[in-house]
Amino acid sequence: MKLKKITLLSGDGIGPEVSKEGEKLLTVIETQFDYKFEIIKKDFGGVAIDKYGIPLPEDTLNNCKKSDAVLLAAIGGTKYDNLPREKRPESGLLGLRSGLNAFSNLRPVMLFDPLLDSSTLKKEVLQGTDLIVIRELTGGLYFGKPKGIETRNGEKVGFNTMIYSESEIKRIAKVAFEIARKRKKKVTSVDKANVLDVSQLWRDVVIEVSKDYKDVNLEHLYIDNAAMQLIKNPKQFDVILAENLFGDILSDEGAMLTGSIGMLPSASMGDGSLPSIYEPVHGSAPDIAGKNLANPIAMILSIAMMFKYSFNDERIYDLILKSVKTILNEGYRTKDIYQDGCKSAGTIEMGDLICNKIAALSNQYV
Ligand code: NAD
Repeated sequence: MKLKKITLLSGDGIGPEVSKEGEKLLTVIETQFDYKFEIIKKDFGGVAIDKYGIPLPEDTLNNCKKSDAVLLAAIGGTKYDNLPREKRPESGLLGLRSGLNAFSNLRPVMLFDPLLDSSTLKKEVLQGTDLIVIRELTGGLYFGKPKGIETRNGEKVGFNTMIYSESEIKRIAKVAFEIARKRKKKVTSVDKANVLDVSQLWRDVVIEVSKDYKDVNLEHLYIDNAAMQLIKNPKQFDVILAENLFGDILSDEGAMLTGSIGMLPSASMGDGSLPSIYEPVHGSAPDIAGKNLANPIAMILSIAMMFKYSFNDERIYDLILKSVKTILNEGYRTKDIYQDGCKSAGTIEMGDLICNKIAALSNQYV
């Protein structure tokens, strides 16, 4: 029996709704396979602010550190928008990532054939797209100092610092090359080296690291061109390597290739000494919260990534992906990916359909 301790941070908005579907899925895995999950639920984000005045209580972070993996749904909401920045839910997110030293963020853009018509892009542009964005997560503009808003010469100025050390660039570049080695052996490093000094260092260090990966093809693109190419011809990409801000923007752009941000999972990990975080790319979607409209697939695919990367179990990863694909093939859709002629499903129904499919297909994966 494999015992796994998972800290579940359901958070805000649609977070608790998609978390419930994730819990359901874990129960099905327990009944079909040799796993037992201890799920520890902790407050994080807006819900923690309401109770304790801070987004990331010490108890939450300590429990995360003691787990085998952290499952996070989504945080945030308009109610917290006027709080000082360090007290907002999003600061908790940055604190969690740095607290678990989760410097690399893996965001696969998984395209499911039945959804090729859900994207705003043409089917022939999309077909065959299979890429992953490796985003640096604990450095760059989101963490760099100095930062702030202050008065200079009688007017307010706002500033942040995009700063990277050689060692920070080196470790994330290695992650990208290692992943590329197991895929189509191509890394596209994204920067703005024609304008930014920090990008020039990024490019120089990536080239240096690439010397240990002669079997992997390296190319460089400026961020503006990369954003354009991702829409123009997404098939040209395999592994996209980017610093924090550029990776954030590119991976949301990548979400639109799949038809909806409700389809995109992610994993955030460090050097292996602390647990990794698995979370949908989407936010708390306050506009649809509490209406049984949220697509739970991003959460479900994040759990699939947890099996692959934290529990080294590609078998369950494949089973979850196949179950999602089969349900989409059968024509079921949540509202965000709905098309004429499909069968509509709410959050709960989509979770049930996928869980039942997992149970039905599991004998092929024992
Ligand atoms: P969002 O991702 O919450 O929503 C963007 C759009 O996508 C909305 O129209 C929403 O309805 C839709 N959407 C998102 N997830 C969906 C799902 N699973 N199914 C169907 N539709 C879905 O981004 P936003 O509106 O910019 O931000 C809302 C809040 O979430 C903010 O407070 C923001 O700071 C926070 N946020 C949190 C995270 C996180 O927890 N990691 C990430 C991004 C944004």
